[in-house]
Amino acid sequence: MAARIEVLRGDLTQQAVDAIVNAANEKLLGGGGVDGAIHRAAGPELLEACRKLPEVQPGVRCPTGEARITPGFGLRARHVIHTVGPVYRGRPTDAVLLRSAYRSALELAVEHGLRSVAFPAISCGVYGYPLDEAAAISISVVRDRDWALDEVRFVLFSNDVLSAWKRALG
Ligand code: ADP
Repeated sequence: MAARIEVLRGDLTQQAVDAIVNAANEKLLGGGGVDGAIHRAAGPELLEACRKLPEVQPGVRCPTGEARITPGFGLRARHVIHTVGPVYRGRPTDAVLLRSAYRSALELAVEHGLRSVAFPAISCGVYGYPLDEAAAISISVVRDRDWALDEVRFVLFSNDVLSAWKRALG
């Protein structure tokens, strides 16, 4: 059975799911926006766990479009899946990388036997991705495959983002 898609306005850090997905950067050492909120809610052990992930290039623990998993520590979620979306530049590769960020996170969840995953609007904050395009990409990645998941939840922080995701759901 296909994963159920839920879309709601809320705080990602408060979700009781198997994994919340962090809109991280390639360094995986924390940042602003949802990344900072996740690290504050999870506690300092999350940063320690991220530091221990191997660098694939100097300073890069997770290249754009890929994902990594850590425990959730102080979060209600058991795991954090860190994925890196693209900085929006208006090029065709933007969509390829954003699609890959969502797909990599879902693949990692399935590999670890997780059943419920909650996403923020990856790349839609400081990375500047247009909301309707990002929403359409995220929903199409979920609908693309018969993921072995019960629920994929999108937890949006503001009404404009929530509206874009509702339009994309149709
Ligand atoms: P990016 O660098 O990928 O653009 P940001 O963290 O700047 O990531 O923004 C991604 C989205 O996450 C934005 O829509 C932002 O409003 C939202 N966001 C920020 N804090 C939270 C939170 N606690 N829960 C859910 N979404 C959040």
